[in-house]
Order: sequence, then structure tokens, then C-alpha cells
Amino acid sequence: MKLPRTDLPLSRPALLVLAYRYLVRDEKGDPVETPEEMFWRVARAVAEAEREFGEDPEFWAERFYQLMASLDFLPNSPTLMNAGLPLGQLSACFVLPVEDSLEAIFEALKAAALIHKSGGGTGFSFSRLRPKGDVVRTTQGVASGPVSFMRVFDAATEAIKQGGKRRGANMGILRVDHPDIEEFILIKRDPRELRNFNISVAVTEDFIKALKQGADFPLINPRTGQETRRVKARHLFDLLTESAWMTGDPGVIFLDTINRANPTPLLGPIESTNPCGEQPLLPYESCNLGSINLSRFVKDRQVDYPRLGKTVRLAVRFLDDVIEVNRFPLPQIARITRLNRKIGLGVMGFADLLIRLGIPYDSAEAVKLAEEIMAFIERESVAESQRLGEIRGSFPAFPGSLWDEKGFPAMRNATTTTVAPTGTLSLIAGTSSGIEPLFALAYRRRALEGVEWTEIHPEFLKALEERKLPVEDIVAEVLERGGLSGIKGVPEDLKRLFVTAFEVSPERHLAIQAAFQRHTHNAVSKTINLPEDTPKEEIGRIYLKAYELGLKGVTIYRYGSRPEAPLRLAREE
Ligand code: ADP
Repeated sequence: MKLPRTDLPLSRPALLVLAYRYLVRDEKGDPVETPEEMFWRVARAVAEAEREFGEDPEFWAERFYQLMASLDFLPNSPTLMNAGLPLGQLSACFVLPVEDSLEAIFEALKAAALIHKSGGGTGFSFSRLRPKGDVVRTTQGVASGPVSFMRVFDAATEAIKQGGKRRGANMGILRVDHPDIEEFILIKRDPRELRNFNISVAVTEDFIKALKQGADFPLINPRTGQETRRVKARHLFDLLTESAWMTGDPGVIFLDTINRANPTPLLGPIESTNPCGEQPLLPYESCNLGSINLSRFVKDRQVDYPRLGKTVRLAVRFLDDVIEVNRFPLPQIARITRLNRKIGLGVMGFADLLIRLGIPYDSAEAVKLAEEIMAFIERESVAESQRLGEIRGSFPAFPGSLWDEKGFPAMRNATTTTVAPTGTLSLIAGTSSGIEPLFALAYRRRALEGVEWTEIHPEFLKALEERKLPVEDIVAEVLERGGLSGIKGVPEDLKRLFVTAFEVSPERHLAIQAAFQRHTHNAVSKTINLPEDTPKEEIGRIYLKAYELGLKGVTIYRYGSRPEAPLRLAREE
């Protein structure tokens, strides 16, 4: 494929991803728009919303174009892919209800198919399905249970990805007190199972209590509300952490923590998140995300807060406009999304920002900065949403919401902040993903034509050159070892500054996630990366620590434990 021409500072991998997935293409599959034209298409389509509020769309389109083309901010992938085009579905995140009837299960499946086709990801709680072996009255048969239906969703996702913009992504949740919980916890130990799913156990406070007391824990049939049997909480927890140690799945979500932060409890409880866990949503709710590229907000070796503040405010307006022009795949989704008008503004490039400021990721100073920056983004985004609420009207479910109770006069959006993984967005923006540390300082990349080359992190290369260190020798060692630890002749301060994901202590990973979570309405996507020789017991400690820190969920990945990480690979395809 011919790479598109551009004057924007986009890397070759970024151009390739854009050409294959984002730019409009002709029948032969060649791109017919440039990246500049893509950003104009998105800017104009989103700014159309301004007309309704008596504003000049062209004025705002120019601002939105600058916001994206500067790579200061990018909206989630479906907005870049679909804005201004007939499909017009702009959201990345959806949660669908799965009720306990055959009709309802297959309705959810159909909704998921429509969402995947448009590049969105779906989360489901399967907790309401009756357990395996339970009665099915109409047919006098026996139920096959949540896991068997998850396989149906998985197979459908597999088939749809052939025709879609990207491989579909799902989150499957099961409550810890569901009678089929053991089967669920064990299922992904078989690498052939549920390849298009991330799975998480929805842990309750009652479970944590039973675990701490060494007590038994009742499993409850959701159809009857009756207890079916009791198991040792410790037994379930050990199975869970052992599976995670082996494969990375299941993660956990903390249901009570999530629901304490539910901004609209009158609309019902939250039971699931989207595929990567950063967005808890009500049944049928969707959310559109956007991420600010923090690495671009350094001035005189400090965070450029005045410019960051302006960018946050414009990004909130952009995301609120997206809700106006969004075409929702189902009327139920349109209804609840417009009731709450949730948006999720977050960040990418945090690790790159730290490097530019000279702060090691694995340091108390990094945690302090995480807290400071996200508090600032939260404050500015809430102020802008309040201002828009005063002009455009509050989200319709505002009366009785947490905002109303806290005495806010108006709010345009039930939530404003989410920290997404930015798997593809960070590649396009050429920065580190989300709030993760660097994964590698140098790596081999292979183009489609088979040409191979070494990519070196630009700040790392600059540091080596400034210190007159032997670049070739050091890079060769880095390629072998993954990071700088153990390499002779590299000064200690560089080793600390250029720390990579598997060298950062789990405590620090959690502390950074918690610092961001304290100032994020929704959740924070983060993987606690662990070295291969991490003992099994460590996983349990991490899960409990995450709970105590007030995280809404936690995902771990032990180096080498999963030959292919389906979602992560999918996003980079
Ligand atoms: P991106 O960088 O492409 O905007 P992220 O990595 O930030 O996406 O993921 C954000 C959310 O987008 C995920 O939690 C999920 O809901 C959705 N998503 C990501 N990758 C996929 C995919 N391959 N298919 C469907 N949805 C996806």
C-alpha cells in the first residue's frame, strides 16, 4: 500500500496504522484521504453540533482541527474512523445487559455484533444467567450456564472481525457469588478459550470480609436468590490469583467501590465495565473517550499548566459535541447515553512526560506529579462541563445525581474523566501509552516488505549521545535484555530515568494507578507488569492492595505468561 502524504509529524508506523484502519479508502483499498483530511473530516463533523447552540461550526472546526493535528489530543478510535461518514458511530465503550432468557441473550449478541462492526468494544455481566444444571422450565431441560453462552459471544466476535474495522473486544464479568464462578475462573487457563474476551471477577465487600476472616462464602443462584452451596473464600481467591499468575486472566473489578462512585444511582447499579476496564457503565450505556498527550505539555522543564488547562476545556467541549452528532447502534443505547452524557477525558504519554522532566517513573515524585496533573485535569474538566451545563443545560438525569446532591448548579456530563489504555492512539501520537511506563527502550520493527530496523526511544538516544556513551553497544545489549539493568557503563541516573515496565515495582505501579484514580470519575486502565519469576502469592497481595487503595479494578501481567496477549495485539494490528 502507498503511504499517504502528510506534513504532520507522524512516524512510519503511525502512517501505516492510519492507512490500514482510519483513512477513508477506495475499492482497491488505497487511502483517498491524507491524515490532514482525516482530522478535518472529524473536526467538521463534530463541530456541526455547535450549530444547535447558535455557534459558528467553522470557527469551532478550526479549533478542533488544531487540537488533533497538533497531536495534543486525540479522540478514541471510532471517532477518528467514523466521524463524517455514513456509519457515524463514534464511541469506543459499551456495556450491554444479558438477561436470563434465550431471547435476551441473543438480543445482546446482536447488539454486540452491530457495535463491533463499528469499532466499539463491549462489556457484559453474565451474572444474571442461571447456573449450569439449573432447570429450564419451558423445555424441561437443563441450563448450560454463563460460560457456555460466553463461548457463543466469543465465536460471533471471531466471525465479525473479518468484516469489521478491527478485531472485536469484549469484557466478560461474573460476580464472585455466582455458582459457576469456579468454571469461570479456570476457563482461560486453556489458551483456546474465549480469545476475544478479557474476563474479570466482580468482587464484593462481603467476599473480601469472608476472605479476611477465613470464612465460608455462599454462592447464590441468581434465578431463585437461593444459596446453592458454600465454599471457602480463600479457596476461590487462591484459584483466581493462580489463574491470573498463569495467564493474566481473570482480573478483578471491585463492584462496591464502583457503585459508590456511580453518579446516577437512581438509574440503577453498575454491573460491568468496557473491555479494557476503564469505563464502568450502566446497561446499554456508551461513552466516548479522548486522551491528552501529556508529553507535549512541557515548557522550561515544567508542566505547562496554562496551555494544558485550555486544552482540557476545548477537549471537553469536543467530547460533549461528539454525543450530539453520534449515531447510536440501538435506540436503548441512544436513550441512556443521552440521559447521562458521560465523557471520558484522560491522558497518554505520562511516561514520556516524566522523562522530559527528568523524573524516574519508579519514584515518589512521579506519584506526586500523577496526582497533581490528574487533579488539575479533573478540576478544569468539571469547570468546563459545569459551564456548558449552564449554557446548554445539564445532563437530563442530573436531578438526584451525585452532582445535584453535592450542590452543583449544573453539569453537562455525569462524568468527565477516564484513563484509557490508548493502545492505538499513543502509536499515532508517537508517545508512551496511557499512564504506563516505557515497555522498551529499543526494539526491532519489521515492515510488511520484510525490511527490519531498530527503533530507539528518541529521548533515550538523545541522552546516550549527550553523555557520549557508545550507542551501538548499549542498544545491542538493551535489545537482548529489554532494559538497562545489569548493563555495565551506563550511569545510575540514566538507569533510573529509563526504567521499563517489568523493572518497576508492583507497589509503584499500584501507587501511580491509585494517584490517577483519586481524580478520575470513571476508572483507570493500567497493567501491573511483573517479572517472570514473581511468586504466585504476590498476585493475591496485589489484588488486596488494589482494593485497599480504592482502585476500581486491577489487571496483572506476568512476563512471558501468555504467548499472545489477544487484546493488546489486536489493538496494534
Ligand atoms: P484506541 O487507542 O484505539 O482509541 P484504547 O486502547 O484506548 O483504544 O481502548 C479504549 C477502548 O476502546 C477499550 O476499552 C475498548 O472499549 C475499545 N477497543 C479497543 N480496542 C478495540 C478493538 N480491537 N475492538 C473493539 N473495541 C476496542
